[in-house]
Amino acid sequence: MNNNFQKTLKQKTSFEGIGLHTGKVAKVSLNPAPENSGIVFKRTDIKKNNIIKANYENISSTNLCTVLKNENNSSISTVEHLVAAFYITGIDNVLVEVDNAEIPIMDGSSKDFIKIINNAGIEEQSKKRKYVKVLKEIEINEGNKHINLSSDSKSLRVDYELDYENKLISNQRNKINFLSDNLKDIYTSRTFCLYKDIEKIKKAGLAKGGSLDNAIVVDEDKIINENGLRNEKEFVNHKILDLAGDLFLAGYRIVGNVKTKHGGHELNKKCLDLLFSDKNNYEISEMSQPKIRKENFVITSEKIAATA
Ligand SMILES: [Zn+2]
Repeated sequence: MNNNFQKTLKQKTSFEGIGLHTGKVAKVSLNPAPENSGIVFKRTDIKKNNIIKANYENISSTNLCTVLKNENNSSISTVEHLVAAFYITGIDNVLVEVDNAEIPIMDGSSKDFIKIINNAGIEEQSKKRKYVKVLKEIEINEGNKHINLSSDSKSLRVDYELDYENKLISNQRNKINFLSDNLKDIYTSRTFCLYKDIEKIKKAGLAKGGSLDNAIVVDEDKIINENGLRNEKEFVNHKILDLAGDLFLAGYRIVGNVKTKHGGHELNKKCLDLLFSDKNNYEISEMSQPKIRKENFVITSEKIAATA
């Protein structure tokens, strides 16, 4: 895949599924979109002011998922796994039509989204892609939470560390180069929660659609899901997936080095706010990029029901 030019979908594709937090079924259509239009959500169940741009300035909440809201209070929740799938497959421009307030959770990872995008096909456009190059190192420390963003010549590189009190999740760390690594373990990693937190989350009116079909549930030192984990570092790998989706809300792909500990949606948003708060921190420009090997993001062995 050539990384120098913008991309969209070859054709429209549709799917549906339940929202993790609302518990409501949403129908989603992914439509090809013109150059320089970016990722745009359209709430088809709302008549007016229903366009919401996938941009960090529109992030209105980061409580257990990323919510985007436009200036007229139209919102769309749990966008991060779909946006991460656009990031990984190289999609720059897409119109996401959705008839409800939340993007379906599917299996809790980006696996189904990646399949749907690959099945629809990816079209190269004639305009060059721009990147956000990190010029100046930035850092946020809040208690035990930490994120550091520094410059890199070509890639988005991530070094992510978790340190949970829970013995099974415990300390997991992974380093990923989004340009050269096979990303299968990242995009197939599911969201997770602790069994003891479920009641609290449900009382807050969240996770109404949550089940063992779309999340890993950890009870003390065991995983409740019948088939266990998909990969050894599934917990930290899911956090890396979330980060990729959140950082793509910069509006462009970020070329930089991320080092983070105990992070999450909130810290990811603060990192973008800080990066863009000073023009000396970054530069938005075209750059010559090496090709990405297709096997890093294409699933060829399985098919999914999606209508083209
Ligand atoms: Zn997630």
